[in-house]
Amino acid sequence: MQPVHSPGRIKIAERRVRQWSKFGAAVELFSRDQTRDMLGSDAWFGGFWNRTGGHINPLALSRGLARAVLDRGGRIYARSPAISFERRNGHWLVKTEQGEISGRALIVATNAYTGEFSKLLMPAMAREVMPVLSWQMATQPLSETARQTIIPARQAMSDTHGELYFARYDARNRLVTGGAVIGPGSKSERLKIIVAERLKRLWPQIGQVEFDYVWNGYVGMTTDFLPRIHRLGPDAYGWTGCNGRAVALSIALGDELSKAVRGVPDRDLALPLSGPSPIIAHGLLRRLAPLMLMLYRRRDAREIA
Ligand SMILES: Cc1cc2nc3c(=O)[nH]c(=O)nc-3n(C[C@H](O)[C@H](O)[C@H](O)COP(=O)(O)OP(=O)(O)OC[C@H]3O[C@@H](n4cnc5c(N)ncnc54)[C@H](O)[C@@H]3O)c2cc1C
Repeated sequence: MQPVHSPGRIKIAERRVRQWSKFGAAVELFSRDQTRDMLGSDAWFGGFWNRTGGHINPLALSRGLARAVLDRGGRIYARSPAISFERRNGHWLVKTEQGEISGRALIVATNAYTGEFSKLLMPAMAREVMPVLSWQMATQPLSETARQTIIPARQAMSDTHGELYFARYDARNRLVTGGAVIGPGSKSERLKIIVAERLKRLWPQIGQVEFDYVWNGYVGMTTDFLPRIHRLGPDAYGWTGCNGRAVALSIALGDELSKAVRGVPDRDLALPLSGPSPIIAHGLLRRLAPLMLMLYRRRDAREIA
């Protein structure tokens, strides 16, 4: 569910409903009352509901993917980052600190972390994205009374703020949400205060808010918010630039990239293949990217035309 945080932003919801409807998606425009009923909050002015959306347990997804690899005879090497790779004798040779492996085909799928473990791995791809720290946090399990009125049917929601307001339940009735923060000091402690106040503002019935877990990770932002998908050489592909929303996309890309390395011609792939195109002044932009938050806050506070 994507609720809108100002009356004028209902236009965004209307536009999205129109766009998705063209493809036959089960989407609906919600009035303010319907939104209040679904989310248990008066904070929003209507919204856009896509019934085909959902939320996942990310750890279970990772384990499931790992199991699928192992079941097919694949091997997973943990805690051994690839330092570099090269083409040798018609094969790809991937080097780590401890050893090397060679393979017919290669897929570089290191996303926002491409330049983080080894500067040599694929500098041109590393400089296509700005790794921006994104924070998640899980409240203590909500009381049953609170849970019954806060998003009672457990849909995942994220709204129209640039500084996103989002929430979903985990299996133990923790509300998983998050936020962004810039400046010095302990970011997690500051976030706990900011996000607890936000949750109380959105859902006054929530009572005291305490967090059991706070964590973060890099999302790979590109300048146009689109992913970069590359052919890197014979039987070699790479992609980066999740823009914080590629749980589903990365799985779909996995499917296409596996077809690519099995020899399906480029023209039959659902992949806009290109070569890497590093951002000029990447180091500077990377440092400035977190400051976008101030711009988002200014925009969020204004009504749209
Ligand atoms: C806090 C947070 C919240 C998010 N929320 C959402 C959301 O709500 N919805 C959504 O769709 N997406 C979300 N995302 C983005 C989502 O996590 C990514 O789009 C998705 O994980 C991309 O999958 P991937 O497998 O392509 O890359 P990743 O999951 O980033 O995996 C890249 C892997 O490459 C490994 N790696 C890097 N360098 C090397 C090396 N040199 N050698 C070996 N391995 C290496 C890394 O260790 C990592 O395991 C979120 C991300 C973060 C950080």
